[in-house]
Amino acid sequence: MARLFGTNGVRGVVNRDFTVELAQGLAAAAGSVLGKEVAVGRDARTSSPMVRDAVVSGLLSVGCNVHDMGVVPTPALQYMVKSLGLDGGVMVTASHNPPQFNGVKVVAADGVEISRATEDRIEGLHFKGGPEPAPWNMVGAVREHDILEPYIGAVVSRVDHGLIASRGLKVALDTGNGVSCLVAPLVASRLGAGVYTVNAELDGGFPGRGSEPTPENLDALRDLIGATGADLGIGFDGDGDRSIIMDEKGEAVWGDKSLSLIADWYLGRHAGETVVTSISTSKGLEDVVNRHGGRVHWVRVGSVDVSRAMVEHGYLLGGEENGGIMYGPHHPVRDGAMIMALLLQILADTRRPLSELIAEQPIYSKAKDKVDCPDELKEEVLRRLPGLVEGLDVDTMDGVKVTYGDGSWILIRPSGTEPVCRLYAEARDRETVMGIIGEYKDRLGKLIAGLQ
Ligand code: MG
Repeated sequence: MARLFGTNGVRGVVNRDFTVELAQGLAAAAGSVLGKEVAVGRDARTSSPMVRDAVVSGLLSVGCNVHDMGVVPTPALQYMVKSLGLDGGVMVTASHNPPQFNGVKVVAADGVEISRATEDRIEGLHFKGGPEPAPWNMVGAVREHDILEPYIGAVVSRVDHGLIASRGLKVALDTGNGVSCLVAPLVASRLGAGVYTVNAELDGGFPGRGSEPTPENLDALRDLIGATGADLGIGFDGDGDRSIIMDEKGEAVWGDKSLSLIADWYLGRHAGETVVTSISTSKGLEDVVNRHGGRVHWVRVGSVDVSRAMVEHGYLLGGEENGGIMYGPHHPVRDGAMIMALLLQILADTRRPLSELIAEQPIYSKAKDKVDCPDELKEEVLRRLPGLVEGLDVDTMDGVKVTYGDGSWILIRPSGTEPVCRLYAEARDRETVMGIIGEYKDRLGKLIAGLQ
């Protein structure tokens, strides 16, 4: 059976892999698994109104009542599902994927992405022909909500508004023509910061810099920081859950380092707590957490696994190396606007430039690469991967992770969203990490070629 749910929801090219029929069918299956009251939100993609209507009709057809949240960031929908006590939600978005993509992220009653087991139930039901439609007099109803104000208020309430406002901070935002432009500038100005924006108009074609912020495509943000003297810059992804931060000098900060900075600040106030992260995250996080007497709880790659571990064990901070950070006191999901508010809090607390705070985080050199791997070979590659690395310290929680005596490591795993195997490596210096990546890219390439 083909798997529809990838690392984070179901996604595909609109009207080719991700059709109206698929959206409707998945929504019907999701609705019958989630329960009666289901939220629907959408991002600003050009195809999102079409997909939203398909999702709404699928949900109504199985008797769900739809709570239509309109155009909202994913984390706003997630927060409001929990806060309104709904049974779940469906967010129409392809997150950071290019504009021709769309998809859905399905949210459980606790406002967190559904577990892998629930994904399997929904898929199973869909592939068996879907649930029985409701009789005509049991078809659901639609109710509209305006959730931006309560969501923004909730984020602002999690930080010290008075302290932040007293510092006269300036923040530069690149909302990438995505839905963050509806919340991030408002949160920052509500906190008394001076706000400067670029790519701040909603546009489903993402004409500014694409929907995925990377250290390479944030030149406009860098220029904005330079022109305004902003203390902090942030680039958001298409649906507002992930963000890349930039210091006052225009240096992009990798997700690992923003996570370790926030962990450093958070554990400074809550010593000994546990931080959840995926096994692709830098060892630098563990160094910081250990310094505060805390512990890192490692999970498989994927925000769902981080969030679910936080919910299950009650941990209050989590994150991923790609810039997705979960602040449990607000809500244990990735939330770009919440992270912006926390960074303003950190700047206000420390009264120090962001570049100095980042420079104090542990220094490791990281590298990522990928090797083409057809989807049908992934299972076999996964089975044979341990053979590539025999005799070393090997962790097979997700793909294969090898750790060497000096702390350097490499993780190889088949991608959940693309026909590639990804390699992540880290070492104390650039030369070592590139050597490790090169060696394993070669071995993996030969393994895959041998299977074709
Ligand atoms: Mg996203």
